[in-house]
Amino acid sequence: MKNRPQTIRANCQRCQDVFVDVRAFTVQVRPTEDGFVSFTCPQCHHVTTKLMDKRIIGLLADWNISILPLDVPAEFLELRTGEPIGWDDVLAFHNRLHSDEFPEVLAR
Ligand SMILES: [Zn+2]
Repeated sequence: MKNRPQTIRANCQRCQDVFVDVRAFTVQVRPTEDGFVSFTCPQCHHVTTKLMDKRIIGLLADWNISILPLDVPAEFLELRTGEPIGWDDVLAFHNRLHSDEFPEVLAR
């Protein structure tokens, strides 16, 4: 284990820069080797979670911070394209579900 600092400067979503005890971090790694790093802010107790690249994850692993695998559905890792759905899309979907053409839509 490399020299592990006692605290790490982190960016709380509410307080900005804070110093967080290294033991307060949790890391969950995705199959892509990047992952989510979380900590509870020592000042406001808000939990901040950020996506970090595999370089940062490797650094945290060198400091013996426990790293857990993140099991997510494959759809979560799919590349998303296009506009996010909105209320109009939800209403259109609802209307199609309740229309007479619904069974035909499923056959396409
Ligand atoms: Zn805070």
